[in-house]
Amino acid sequence: MPSYQDLLAQARAETTEISVEALRALLDQESPVTLLDVREESEASEGRIPGSVLLPRGNLELRVESLIPRDVTVVVYCASGIRSVFAARTMTSMGYRDVRSLAGGYGRWSDGGHPIERAPSLLRADQRARYRRHLTLSEVGEEGQAKLLAGKVLLLGAGGLGSPAALYLAAAGVGTLGIVDSDVVDPSNLQRQVLHTVDRTGQPKTESAREALNALNPDVNVVAFQERLQASNVERILEGYDVVLDGGDNFPTRYLLNDACVLLGKPLIHGSVFRFEGQVTTVLPGQGPCYRCLYPEPPPPELAPSCAEAGVLGVLPGVIGLLQATEAIKLLLGTGSPLVGRLLTYDALGGRFRELQLRRDPTCAACGEGARPVLSDTPEVCAIAPHARA
Ligand SMILES: [Zn+2]
Repeated sequence: MPSYQDLLAQARAETTEISVEALRALLDQESPVTLLDVREESEASEGRIPGSVLLPRGNLELRVESLIPRDVTVVVYCASGIRSVFAARTMTSMGYRDVRSLAGGYGRWSDGGHPIERAPSLLRADQRARYRRHLTLSEVGEEGQAKLLAGKVLLLGAGGLGSPAALYLAAAGVGTLGIVDSDVVDPSNLQRQVLHTVDRTGQPKTESAREALNALNPDVNVVAFQERLQASNVERILEGYDVVLDGGDNFPTRYLLNDACVLLGKPLIHGSVFRFEGQVTTVLPGQGPCYRCLYPEPPPPELAPSCAEAGVLGVLPGVIGLLQATEAIKLLLGTGSPLVGRLLTYDALGGRFRELQLRRDPTCAACGEGARPVLSDTPEVCAIAPHARA
């Protein structure tokens, strides 16, 4: 079995290397050369050769074709010239015609006094430490973390769904969390509303949430709306937020929030739970169905038991709230496939997820052809989810 040294020697034998001096001469002559830095983002943030494309070695095969055409001259470098040898060989095997590995790597380049550049850091040193596990994901990185820190998510409700969602959004470094809730903490909430504690019984949930979230991450600006969401205040409350997370427990606010998000063109992440089942879907106005396409009308009151009677397994809103938080983070980062036109359901007892395809309803009162939602308050019935129309 070949040793690491054997593999390296073989890769070197199959790869063209270029010296630091020869590269400097090429750049000074303004020869067309694409510089590819295959170090990790944390290494590259200390300094790099000016004009480099950063693509950590671990993502090379996955992303290089989308970043660099095959017919250009590429000089690959890492810290010392080892990872770049393997990377150059891989690229050659992928059909790149002229790939060279920088002998001695960035270390020899900077030691030789050749020009380097440092990208201005988007994060403070303590933030770089705190979010390190995000920074090492190329889909997040420093740029993505900066997007999260600039992101504003509005949560309707600091209850069963809002609690886990808010905690993880705060932990992830989402910079502004607006929380709409008019209730106070009650001991009967604590079976599932993990933001709150026994010693904060009687406090407004918005204040209890602020205390918990700032204890977890002082970077997060918690904006408290200690009021009920109504037609008269919904546009004011939603203003300035990038994403809205519906963790409410009643139909009037659910429809109101849907209609307001459609009207204002804001992404809405719907979540609901009942007994042992939960569901989540993402509404991107103009790009997929809205909540009214799915449920045009609230169920009649006789089919909706009162909220106080409706039980829920305490862990279930944890699962659904975190799916909502995940959707919010994906939208802020602009990565992944949101649950648009898809309803993800979770059956806790059966241990099963199911996905239902949803269609936009051209006659929808909120988002249909020529429709313009009218924001209004409707009488309250409890938010027991009827079965989805697939
Ligand atoms: Zn609709």
